[in-house]
Amino acid sequence: MTAPLLTVENLRVSFPTHSGRVEVVKGLSFTLGRERLGIVGESGSGKSMTGRSILKLIRKPGLVTADKLNFEGIDILDQNEKQMRAIRGARISMVMQDPKFSLNPVMTVGEQIAEALVTHQKLPRRDVQARIIEMLHAVRINDPERVARLYPHEVSGGMGQRIMIAMMLIPEPELLIADEPTSALDVSVQAQVLDIIDELVRNKGMGLILISHDLNLVSRYCDRILVMNAGHVVEECAAGQLANAQHPYTRGLLAAMP
Ligand code: ADP
Ligand code: MG
Repeated sequence: MTAPLLTVENLRVSFPTHSGRVEVVKGLSFTLGRERLGIVGESGSGKSMTGRSILKLIRKPGLVTADKLNFEGIDILDQNEKQMRAIRGARISMVMQDPKFSLNPVMTVGEQIAEALVTHQKLPRRDVQARIIEMLHAVRINDPERVARLYPHEVSGGMGQRIMIAMMLIPEPELLIADEPTSALDVSVQAQVLDIIDELVRNKGMGLILISHDLNLVSRYCDRILVMNAGHVVEECAAGQLANAQHPYTRGLLAAMP
């Protein structure tokens, strides 16, 4: 493996309940290089809380602790909110399930890409239009001039997700966290979106954490896989070794695969 981008040791996430606290991530550890890591597990197993912890996006009364949560030499748990804002979006980007919640509803697609380009790439205004078209092409949008003029509610889910991916990559992050990026999409467009993520991540040599409940999907798009169950990692293996997995929970998932 290449030098780690991210080191996670004994990550724990808990929430208060009427009778104390309930732990939803129970001592998770892994390292990630510039590779594609899949986190798979059924709903409620703690995948999203793991992804959000890395970006320090879990708000009180949630509590996150770790022996180590280190991204490129930065101790994430030591960062204040202002420091985290500089990391989020710029060095670690996140794509979530529904692009409708991430895109600004009152700006056209072109306007929001323009804003991101000017903010993150310090691109002169006169070069912005050409760059927008180029970026939309890169996520395989065939008629970028038209799409740039649309508002988020006027684009399909698959198109919205491709636009989000283009936007998330503007600051050239080192790590992309994709949390169920295609779960809200029709099966026919899921592969298109994942192929685009895959191509861009490989071309730019980024790290990817792909979170999904779908074992088929992570085994296809990832190099390494963590299987989570009820807050624990029950299996960690190379994607190619999955068929030899020993843990009964993983075997159950494999048996349920179509
Ligand atoms: P996954 O992404 O694997 O479906 P999550 O990481 O979102 O699961 O959630 C793990 C567990 O944490 C779930 O049981 C969920 O109910 C619980 N949880 C998430 N957010 C909160 C919260 N704000 N308060 C209490 N429990 C929460
Ligand atoms: Mg989730």
